[in-house]
Amino acid sequence: APPPGTNPLALDAPAAGSGAYAGARTFEELPLSAATRAALKQAKFTQLTAIQRAALPHALAGRDVLGAAKTGSGKTLCFLIPGGWSQISWGPAHSSGSGGARGPLVELLFRRRWGKLDGLGALVLTPTRELAMQIFDELVKVGRRHEISAGLLIGGKKVSEEATRVASLNVLIATPGRLLQHMDETPGFDASGLQMLVLDEADRILDLGFAATLDAIIANLPRARQTLLFSATQTKSVRDLARLSLDHPDNHMVGPQQN
Ligand code: ADP
Ligand code: MG
Repeated sequence: APPPGTNPLALDAPAAGSGAYAGARTFEELPLSAATRAALKQAKFTQLTAIQRAALPHALAGRDVLGAAKTGSGKTLCFLIPGGWSQISWGPAHSSGSGGARGPLVELLFRRRWGKLDGLGALVLTPTRELAMQIFDELVKVGRRHEISAGLLIGGKKVSEEATRVASLNVLIATPGRLLQHMDETPGFDASGLQMLVLDEADRILDLGFAATLDAIIANLPRARQTLLFSATQTKSVRDLARLSLDHPDNHMVGPQQN
């Protein structure tokens, strides 16, 4: 991620652990847009889970996060919401994509791009198709009032059949192998405007043998991005991945126990 202060649209980033929103226990206490608040309410999400209390203030402040918490603890919202935190209101959508969900990353993407949203802004990598579909469903819930297009890249189709659609989406939720295939084979695949990379269930991604695939993907992404890495366990290989992908990973480790 870029050092704090380089983004003219960034809110003040409070010091790690002592941020203005560090004590927040409900979504209402976080600096979220009206659209995200309304969607959370509609989905009946009110109280933050422990990992959300630990991770969201950092992620919302634009920092990289390495978050560890067990399965079922609510890690998905830790990375799906951070786009929806802006108090700035934006004009009409610039991109509608071709179907797909409307996701909460839009405000972050608009902010960082000075109001222009086109092309790929956020990439979520997850180990399996099932997890990708679950993330997509959660994105539809929490992002239904935002104007942004999102899609799944999880195989089951020819790469060439997906190619046109891929170029039109702002958020991709993908399994690593399929994403790398698109990077290699889809003409005009462009990640140069990527603002946020999410590595979800990173321990399982590595257990499934995707370490080299991840390295190849990350090597092709812009370095000035925010990276959120979530994992159920903190293994050595997860920490190695954090070193490769995060900006100052040792400063950004959060877990529910630190709350
Ligand atoms: P993890 O990725 O840590 O395994 P998930 O993000 O899939 O966990 O969340 C597990 C379940 O908890 C999901 O059904 C999700 O909708 C729900 N959930 C997440 N955060 C909250 C919350 N703050 N309040 C109520 N339910 C939540
Ligand atoms: Mg998960």
